[in-house]
Amino acid sequence: MTTRREHAEQLDAADQLAPLREQFQLPPNVVYLDGNSLGALVNQVPDRLADVVTRQWGDHLIRAWNEDAWWQAPIRIGDRIGKLLGAGPGQVVVGESTSIQFFQALTAAARLRSGRRLVLSDLNHFPTNRYLAASVARLLGLEILEVSADDLQAALREHGSDVCAISFGAVDFRTGALLDIPQITEAAHSQGALVVWDVCHAVGAVPLECDADQVDLAVGCTYKYLNGGPGSPAFLYAAARHHAALDLPLTGWHGHADPFGMTHAFEPAEGIAKARVGTLPMLSLLALDAALDVFDGVDLTAVQTKSQDLGDFFLECLADLLNTTPELGVVSPRRATRRGSQVTLSHPEASPVMAALIARGVIGDVRPPGLLRFGWNSLYIRYQDLLHAVEALETVLSEGEHRRPEHQVPRLVT
Ligand SMILES: *Cc1c(COP(=O)(O)O)cnc(C)c1O
Repeated sequence: MTTRREHAEQLDAADQLAPLREQFQLPPNVVYLDGNSLGALVNQVPDRLADVVTRQWGDHLIRAWNEDAWWQAPIRIGDRIGKLLGAGPGQVVVGESTSIQFFQALTAAARLRSGRRLVLSDLNHFPTNRYLAASVARLLGLEILEVSADDLQAALREHGSDVCAISFGAVDFRTGALLDIPQITEAAHSQGALVVWDVCHAVGAVPLECDADQVDLAVGCTYKYLNGGPGSPAFLYAAARHHAALDLPLTGWHGHADPFGMTHAFEPAEGIAKARVGTLPMLSLLALDAALDVFDGVDLTAVQTKSQDLGDFFLECLADLLNTTPELGVVSPRRATRRGSQVTLSHPEASPVMAALIARGVIGDVRPPGLLRFGWNSLYIRYQDLLHAVEALETVLSEGEHRRPEHQVPRLVT
């Protein structure tokens, strides 16, 4: 009989994506299961960033906007991200934060369907999306109705032509549940509504097909599975068919048709360039550019398959512990095809349990109410890492390490 360890090693040996791990700088003795919050450092980022600072900024000074094509970077890098979104060129811009891009996208969607007064919004949306949707509703005189994906069809039938837009998170940040993007998009369109997808927890982990699925607008961040670095700029996808009519609320000078004409009135640029706002943090933007190199030539379907297999392996290894620990539960969908790239467990003492795991070098995070999140980037996480995490959790719970005073932290900042 093979042991769990032998099984993990066999799976790692057969893993076609395993060599990608060498492209990341991972600290020794750490199992990093929080790449869904802050991706790991890509090898070439420090040197590329040093070059941007010393040569481009230091030597070229203001000339770098032309000589190093800083001006074009938000659209050029947008096109690189577009490849991960299933988007043809000229439909993605990089900049600002996801919060700001979401405000842009939802406002623009509602304006494209003016006269309709209702937004159907994910009951399980990430907080920033709910807070901003409420503000967009106040600004435009709309109403928000929060519904789960399961209740969406019924809500669409009931409210039909009242609905201007629907907005969902592609992967639930708490449970890791993956929604059916084409199906939900089509349901919205059947009532004439537009969709705004938040793909923060999907991009880089799940193959997306924004063009083929007729997605209208999508936003997402680049510091999670795309490893862009802390606070790296977010992106906005807007389908080309909407560009001419797209009326974005943030009309900054970088989105002007003639930004250096310094004219009085705003006149939007053609195409996705109208979604630019102002001067971006170029160091962060160009660090992201370097980090994206790891995705060159990577098949996201293979990444998704590995993520699903990792999840199944993690749950298999957890089976005994789950049987003997009634207070430990599985919150994520059991079916691999319905998960993104994380498995969430529940435990009444989630915070001290996670603190004890982190003390053992297994880094995940917690979310209320009592959820332990284990997310993995399949570009650098191995089967043996997940086995290690399970063994650590077994030890923490059997030894009662989470009861130790040093782990009674009120809230972990992760
Ligand atoms: C991480 C995340 C955000 C983050 O928004 P910021 O503006 O970058 O802080 C927004 N939405 C979702 C769904 C997220 O998972």
